[in-house]
Amino acid sequence: MQLGFVGTGVMGAAIAKNLMAAGHQMTVYNRTKSKTDALVAAGATWAATPALVAAKSDVVFTMVGFPKDVEQVYFGDDGIFSGLKAGKIVVDMTTSQPKLAVKIADYAKQHGFQALDAPVSGGDIGAKNATLTVMVGGDEATYQAVLPLFKIMGHQVNHFGAAGTGQHAKMANQIMIAGTMTGLTEMLLYTKAAGLEPQTVLETLSSGGAENWSMDNYVPRILKDDYTPGFFARHFLKDLRIALTEADAMGLDLVATAQAKRLYEVMVDVKGLGDQGTQGLINIY
Ligand code: NAP
Repeated sequence: MQLGFVGTGVMGAAIAKNLMAAGHQMTVYNRTKSKTDALVAAGATWAATPALVAAKSDVVFTMVGFPKDVEQVYFGDDGIFSGLKAGKIVVDMTTSQPKLAVKIADYAKQHGFQALDAPVSGGDIGAKNATLTVMVGGDEATYQAVLPLFKIMGHQVNHFGAAGTGQHAKMANQIMIAGTMTGLTEMLLYTKAAGLEPQTVLETLSSGGAENWSMDNYVPRILKDDYTPGFFARHFLKDLRIALTEADAMGLDLVATAQAKRLYEVMVDVKGLGDQGTQGLINIY
């Protein structure tokens, strides 16, 4: 198939690479052009705007940073919707607002296109190893059309319903991750203060009831003083803000998630550590 990819950062580049390795033709665009170099060297074609990517593609994937970036690549000058041909499909994999997914889907429907929201979980490692979890919202026929492509990038693909439901499922994921990130951080502080050997504690916890993905993937990085992303702290703060806004609209008061958001605000807004990975939370204590 002729595929397009807009946003070839940590996640997008790895996912696009896996789609190409499965035999698909790829056209790419990224704001910072150099982040497409490896894909172009592997056979992808560079296009100068999202509209030009769209014009060449049967399915266009987007994986940019923030909702404002999603707005820009779809609706902006030279955006995807100004180049897309009738009947073609767009898939936003950015972690973004459910209401924006609905806006994209509504616009697509009115103009003869098809749209899915499909955020993922599994991190930079999951993207590289094609073991992502994919959470999809949008109509069933479009989901079935894109499912073979989702299966190339991930091992768990679920369709939750109408547009926006993929983003809601991702928010459920991020509410869970708020707990695992704060938990692993305070577990490590306690371990060190108690004079325990952190590696042995990690191995012990990993084989018991405290086992979880965040701890297994991020504690080894912290123990090596490695705060490179992974998953940018500024993106996680964005997710916590979206999740809490949605929860508020549902009449929910998620006090633990709100506390995690305050901690990440200290890290990102006060300490200026938003370009570190989420494991850098320990640097605010
Ligand atoms: P990233 O490395 O910053 O990748 C985003 C890419 O999108 C960057 O290369 C950026 O270009 C490009 N971009 C942003 N705005 C653009 C625009 N208006 N036009 C064209 N390109 C634009 O971040 P990431 O880690 O891949 O994350 C991407 C999304 O996936 C985020 O929403 C994040 O929350 C989500 N996510 C991340 C992970 C993870 O573990 N990393 C896991 C699940 C979900 P520049 O290079 O110019 O900035």
